[in-house]
Amino acid sequence: MRRYLALLVTMLMAAAVHANDPPPSKPIKPASAKEEASSSASASASAKEERKPNSKEGKEAAKEAAARAKDALAADELAARIADRLSVIRKEKDDAASRTAPRAAARPAYAPPIRRPEIAKAKNEHGVNGGSGTSSAAAAGSMAASHADIHWSYQGEGGPLNWGKLNPANAKCDAGERQSPIDIRDGIRVNLDPIAFDYKPSRFSVLDNGHTIQVNMGAGNYINVLGHNYELVQFHFHKPSEERVNGKSFEMVAHLVHKDADGKLAVVAVLIERGKAHSLVQQVWNNLPLEKNDPVQALTTMDLNDILPVKRDYFTYMGSLTTPPCSEGVLWLVMKEPVEISPDQLMIFSRLYPMNARPIQKNSGRLIKESN
Ligand SMILES: [Zn+2]
Repeated sequence: MRRYLALLVTMLMAAAVHANDPPPSKPIKPASAKEEASSSASASASAKEERKPNSKEGKEAAKEAAARAKDALAADELAARIADRLSVIRKEKDDAASRTAPRAAARPAYAPPIRRPEIAKAKNEHGVNGGSGTSSAAAAGSMAASHADIHWSYQGEGGPLNWGKLNPANAKCDAGERQSPIDIRDGIRVNLDPIAFDYKPSRFSVLDNGHTIQVNMGAGNYINVLGHNYELVQFHFHKPSEERVNGKSFEMVAHLVHKDADGKLAVVAVLIERGKAHSLVQQVWNNLPLEKNDPVQALTTMDLNDILPVKRDYFTYMGSLTTPPCSEGVLWLVMKEPVEISPDQLMIFSRLYPMNARPIQKNSGRLIKESN
């Protein structure tokens, strides 16, 4: 905004310089030069024709006067047009000033200025099933569009079967051949390199974005897969689990969304089953926002190592976002061992989102690998 204003002021100053000085003279210059040329020409002409009959001289003079009048008119018109343009620019500047001023004044002094951008960012990000608005140019553009005016959901008219029709940007939801989630089966067993988790206690905020509960994490949490680094952006929950393993569904799943320097996404899925209470999940529930799209900044830090199962074996395949716009090219890393949360903890999420899972998609002959 500040940059925009600076640019506007520079433009206005440039315009003002033109307005105060050259505009009248600039258009007039060519006109007067022309005038000079025509008058000197006519002077020599009239000198030559000095002895010619008066009627001809009169004609020449009239012609000259007409030309001068025409030039003067053109100059006036140009000056008037410039004046109009300048007044429009000035009005735009005033409008912009009046728009920004009250907003700045309205923002309470104690409100963290990051808050609003954070909401906007988080909104865009969840489309990515977290992912991020900037994950790829296509995803970013289409996400902005899809969140602007279309209300997708898990039931009814906005439900998964219609996602592709809600917006052309969601075409992959219908036509994609590498969509997620899938029923994970018939994987080839190989010695997969372990995922290197580099998580550390971080600040976090909790957001109810209208589709799920999402936790936005501070910077500095990474995974490394096959020598490739991805940074954690956020994680969120689905109920029931979106993915199945050999046909089996789980109570819930947590999707940990990571992004590399090129905006490519890698999602670690942690399956959740009913059992003992989970302290990290409780930490999220303790900070549940009262309102949608109004994140709660937690006062404590969170260590995401705590959500990972003890055994780190996993399945991996290439898939997509499981929410519109269903962009493909997402590396999925599904942990084999589920973690537990208590029935009470399940109930809390269930009251907010009883069902927020996309149906299983076709495998279409995709290769699935799994830790041996
Ligand atoms: Zn998800």
